[in-house]
Amino acid sequence: MPRREQKGKAAGGPSLRDIPSVEELLETRLLKTEAARHGRPLVVSSARRVLERLRRDIRAGRPVTRAELQPRRLAAAVRNDAAGIYRPSLKPLINATGVVVHTNLGRSVLADEAIEAVRRTAAAYSNLEYNLDRGKRGLRHDHITRIITELTGAEDALVVNNNAAAVLLALTVFARRKEVLVSRGELIEIGGSFRIPEIMAASTAKLVEVGTTNKTKLSDYEKNIGKSTTMLLHVHSSNYKVVGFTAEVSIAELARLGHERGLLVMDDLGSGALAGLPAFADEPSVKDGLAAGADVITFSGDKLLGGPQAGIVVGSREAVGKMKAHPMARAVRVDKMTLAALQATLALYLNPKEALKRIPTLRMLGEKPASIRARARELAAGLEEALDGAAAVTVEKAASKVGGGALPLLELDSYVCAVSPAALQVDELAARLRQTNPPVIGRIHKDRLLLDVRTILPDQAAPAVAALGQAISQSR
Ligand SMILES: *Cc1c(COP(=O)(O)O)cnc(C)c1O
Repeated sequence: MPRREQKGKAAGGPSLRDIPSVEELLETRLLKTEAARHGRPLVVSSARRVLERLRRDIRAGRPVTRAELQPRRLAAAVRNDAAGIYRPSLKPLINATGVVVHTNLGRSVLADEAIEAVRRTAAAYSNLEYNLDRGKRGLRHDHITRIITELTGAEDALVVNNNAAAVLLALTVFARRKEVLVSRGELIEIGGSFRIPEIMAASTAKLVEVGTTNKTKLSDYEKNIGKSTTMLLHVHSSNYKVVGFTAEVSIAELARLGHERGLLVMDDLGSGALAGLPAFADEPSVKDGLAAGADVITFSGDKLLGGPQAGIVVGSREAVGKMKAHPMARAVRVDKMTLAALQATLALYLNPKEALKRIPTLRMLGEKPASIRARARELAAGLEEALDGAAAVTVEKAASKVGGGALPLLELDSYVCAVSPAALQVDELAARLRQTNPPVIGRIHKDRLLLDVRTILPDQAAPAVAALGQAISQSR
């Protein structure tokens, strides 16, 4: 031990004995204030962590200067450590990637109406599971069923935690230890570990692959129907497309075959387009799937629908009724804030023109290139002024993506502000922009940072300019 301390002192620097105590640090003005605001126990544990790091450094022989041991300086480090705990780690940011439904960036931004509904519901008790007419226990499903059936034409509907949960619940209810036929072209993985074969295994359903990757015919399903077959499952290959020599069986054909043989026909739609945006022309709609005869359709609440994270199940009264009654439905149920946000979002769909204007996901997907170009020019002017020659800024044509595993090949005409810093590597600029408040996430292309204006919200232009100004002028 003494030898090690000796080692820490190698360059004539301070030794372990020179490190101030936790008590000493707590006497600094900064940490007194911190303790008053966020509690002494947090500040004490942060101080212990900071001092322990310092001890480790000295023992390892890292040159530590006397200045680093000043209580005031250490107090600042302690506050940083504590702030890492009390400051929210989840923070709003500026999505300048041009990917509208960006799963890593939180997918959908809620409409004002949905935000207000969440606020109202969270701030008071509610009739979540209480029937006000009868003065008795009610069902949380009842708050959302009618609007979903009205919009989709389904007999019944159920909302669960997310679409993955909806698929798992359906497989558990209808296909435990039984066979489910799926085309080899649809054994998909959605980012973040949703894989059809694995969800199947978790539900104990037996996956029977039919057809081939690029071609599956109705006869492939027919051939594989056995005694233990219970379901024909169609999975929308949301995030990729098989192109070239291909064949796929339509839901209508699948439904006809399934019903002839007494099998349940389910369609995992993924995105769930409800509105008639031109951009969605190639995306299967929920209504079409039902009209084609699917017994159960599942889709996400926060992809193309533009609402909160949720999994929506629509279908026949019998099938959805069984799912509602299953104990697993309780384990994947949605909370009241989700119900409120989803109901308010869906209410906007009753007037599709309003939905396109008021639901941010739909508004962004539908924004015309001329409008994006105008916003890009404005942003570029703001940037030029703020950056004052420290970077060149040009407005250029680009392509945005839908994201969220929808319409993988579709490129939406868009405009970007391309930023080339004069005295800074573009990677370094991008790294600095991840640390501004709010952070700005763009994409790097050929040594320039591209900021796609489609996904920059109207009130984020000024903060984006401020963040870039800060990132470029910052000297490190
Ligand atoms: C996105 C997607 C899922 C998973 O939905 P989550 O809402 O993310 O749980 C399942 N199936 C398909 C086809 C999807 O596109």
